[in-house]
Formats: sequence, structure tokens, C-alpha cells
Amino acid sequence: MPELPEVETTRRGIAPHLVGHRVTRLDVHEPRLRWPVPDSVRALENATVASVTRRAKYLLIAVPAGTAIVHLGMSGSLRIATDGSPRRKHDHVEMTLSSGGLLRFHDPRRFGCLLWQAAGDPAHPLLARLGPEPLSDDFDGETLFAATRGRNVAIKVLIMNAAVVVGVGNIYASEALFAAGVRPARAARRVTRAECRRIADAIKVVLARSIDMGGTTLRDFVDSDGEPGYFAQSLAVYGRGGEPCHACARPIVQRVLGQRSTFWCPTCQR
Ligand code: ZN
Repeated sequence: MPELPEVETTRRGIAPHLVGHRVTRLDVHEPRLRWPVPDSVRALENATVASVTRRAKYLLIAVPAGTAIVHLGMSGSLRIATDGSPRRKHDHVEMTLSSGGLLRFHDPRRFGCLLWQAAGDPAHPLLARLGPEPLSDDFDGETLFAATRGRNVAIKVLIMNAAVVVGVGNIYASEALFAAGVRPARAARRVTRAECRRIADAIKVVLARSIDMGGTTLRDFVDSDGEPGYFAQSLAVYGRGGEPCHACARPIVQRVLGQRSTFWCPTCQR
């Protein structure tokens, strides 16, 4: 599943082909995505793209009349074709650009979406209640500490709650808690202020490192048949159940927590 670093890498990969260019044509070949593609996205046609930004895992393609909201769901990807290559199966939406490029939204499982927010309308319900961006100054050890007070939920479940901080997926939650030395199942209210600081810092570090690694894959967004942007990672605990901890050599433990596979080192994490 594309996580925040993959979505940010996608944004950086496609933005130069969109920003400042006109959408000369929009083809919706399959409107039955997670939610039906609304006719209002037609407002993209003949408009010039002002910006391509990201909020949580949503990509926001802005034109003067409003903003297209794109989510990649479980299996979605965006890429730019400049070579006249034929549309593949599962290329559900195509956006022709005055730059000569063609933006293709590909999504075999169709859990992704393409929605529309008209300029001046209140924030779309999907975006209205999101917590702070993890890499912004609005999220730090103090905001995390405040969010943990009185909460019995496991700290890992809490940091994956988009109302607390957006974009911390299952892999990054396990990795950040290992880096911070805190066990995933610990009740949030029992996590100290100093530990919250370490966790918030670790979330920023693991996400930023992953985005940096994604930067090396940017060329895969143009005229490529491979799956773009989903990069191999060096992970400390995630997916390593039973294997030796890189720090202490004891076996990494794997349990299901909040219905998600969770990995930690019983020695290095308290
Ligand atoms: Zn260890």
C-alpha cells in the first residue's frame, strides 16, 4: 500500500509535468473507484494547474476553479507518459497536458479515488478533520504528549490515528517505536514526555529518510512500466519477526496489535 513517503515521492515525480501546464483533455474510462468519480472533475479541462500538493496521503491538484483530490488507495499509482504508449488495463483516468505529457491513474483494485473540491467550498469531509502533518512544526513531542494523556489505547495504535498525526502507516509506526525504544503495546497514558519527544523525532526521521530514498526513483514516473515509487527499504524490525535485532541480536517479536502486524525488540524497547 502506498504510504506517505511514496505519495510524497509521487507528488515530486509528477509535479514538474503538471504545474503551469494546461489540462487539454480529461478521460475517465472507469468512474467506479472507491467513490464514483464526480462529473464536477470536468472543471479540470482547459484549466492550468497552479500547484500539486499533498495533505496526509491525498494528492491535491489545484486549478483556479478548485482542486482534484486523488488517493492511491491500496494499489494505485500515477505516472506520466510522453511516448504515446497505449493505455494499459486498469488505467482508469487519463489527463492530457499541454506539456505533451499524459498523466495516467492506474489502480487494479480500485480502492483509490478522484474527487473534486470547488474553490471557496468548505474543506472536503475527507480533509476536514485531519491531524497535523508529521514533518511539520505542528507535530512534535509536546503535541504527541498532550494527545496521549488519559488514553488507554496502545501507543502504536495512537500514532496511527490520523486525528493525532497523519500518514504514520503500519511500517513506519513499528520502525519509529523501535528507534525511540518504546514498546508498541504500551498504554499511551504511560508514555513519558521524554519518550513522546523521542517518538515524534523518530517518526520525522524514518519518514524523511524514506522520502529521501524515494528521490532516487523519480525518473520511474515517466514512461516506465515498472511500479513507480515503491522503494525497497532497510527496516530494523518491520517484517523481521524471529530474526535477530540489529542492536542486541535477540529475536524480534511479532504480534497482532489493533488488527495490524506489529514488530518489536523485547530488549531494546521498554
Ligand atoms: Zn534489540
